[in-house]
Amino acid sequence: MNVNNVMADLERKHPGENEYLQAVREVLESIEEVYNEHPEFEKARIVERMVEPDRIITFRVTWVDDKGEIQTNIGYRVQFNSAIGPYKGGLRFHSAVNLSMLKFLGFEQTFKNALTTLPMGGAKGGSDFSPKGKSDAEIMRFCQAFMLELWKNIGPDTDVPAGDVGVGGREIGYLYGMYKKLAREYNTGVLTGKGITWGGSLVRPEATGFGALYFVQHMLHKAGKDIKGKTVAISGFGNVAWGAATKATELGARVIAISGPDGVIHNPNGMTPEKIDYMLELRASNRDIVAPFAERFPDSTFVPGKKAWSVKCDIALPCAFQNELTGDDARELLANGTWCAAEVSNMGCTPEAIAEFQKAGILFAPGKAVNAGGVATSGLEMTQNAQHLSWSAEEVDKKLHYIMSQIHEACVTYGTQPDGYVNYVKGANVAGFMKVAHAMLEQGII
Ligand code: GLU
Repeated sequence: MNVNNVMADLERKHPGENEYLQAVREVLESIEEVYNEHPEFEKARIVERMVEPDRIITFRVTWVDDKGEIQTNIGYRVQFNSAIGPYKGGLRFHSAVNLSMLKFLGFEQTFKNALTTLPMGGAKGGSDFSPKGKSDAEIMRFCQAFMLELWKNIGPDTDVPAGDVGVGGREIGYLYGMYKKLAREYNTGVLTGKGITWGGSLVRPEATGFGALYFVQHMLHKAGKDIKGKTVAISGFGNVAWGAATKATELGARVIAISGPDGVIHNPNGMTPEKIDYMLELRASNRDIVAPFAERFPDSTFVPGKKAWSVKCDIALPCAFQNELTGDDARELLANGTWCAAEVSNMGCTPEAIAEFQKAGILFAPGKAVNAGGVATSGLEMTQNAQHLSWSAEEVDKKLHYIMSQIHEACVTYGTQPDGYVNYVKGANVAGFMKVAHAMLEQGII
């Protein structure tokens, strides 16, 4: 395989799908060497087959808003790869959603899910519907209209959607309600991130953020460091940022920044339980602004238009959106002494930012390893549903902890360079790729 040739072909077939092309290039560059040591991969055209989704479903979603006006959005489900298990991955509702974004996310999900050690293939879906400013009733009507189209394509052994940006417990509830009505079956395993009284798993809401912090702890321990007393800057204030802030604080770190599309909150004294709870309130307001945090907690300040990366910190945790940390942001962080960055959002850093971190030799780990605790706990939710059981929070958390340690170990195994530096990007990509590639080889040319 020659990465440039594969990419030239993909660019020709999918012009302008920039996020997708970026995600594929990152993976191919880091697996190229290993791939070329395995002629059987090349013979079976594994890369050419792996970079294209198995299938893409698109549909029109029409619903009526509170003013009685008719709205039309586009819905998607990208079923990327099912070599190691049923399609699995979240739904994203955001105005910027398009096919390129969901293809990048589905592609990443395939490797991430392989890293979790659980049997899950990769998928992603969503809509350009924006929850911002929408009433609860509008969100319900949209979710119902979305599921009217999607339900035929999903199932506990077929494809299991979950939440992502703009889709949380409330949306999963509305989606499941409509699914159940259409399918006439109480099939809880069809969606994850469900409510606790109807098949949800304890710890699932916290799992992405908690898992990320467990991973960061492992990275730090490997480098002979401890998270206690360290300063952490977090971008975003949604579910993932909330989980990360909660666990970072619990582990003795000081979360000195959170941010929103409107600017950054400087929070020099760190988080308190009230502040962490307030993050949930902010998100539930559907206003997508972080500024009210500083009005509510006068020991913090709001700086409009700035990112979390303008705040001096030891550890940077992007928890919001893809490409939210750029080369310039990386240089600013490095100049301010940041020595660890871990993507909690999917592809949170641009390739230039990653290159800066790696050149500086600081600890850096990619989203598909760091944030895999969310989907891993979805996998645990599926297991509980299949068993008609629900496990205690301690049990789920223990399993999550163990899975994150396994992912860290896989990254170290495949990513340790001759000089001892752990290239977590390479480690995660190679480990995830090997598992999926071998399954594809063994299942023949399909
Ligand atoms: N959206 C999350 C992710 O990016 C979770 C997906 C899931 O639980 O299926 O991994």
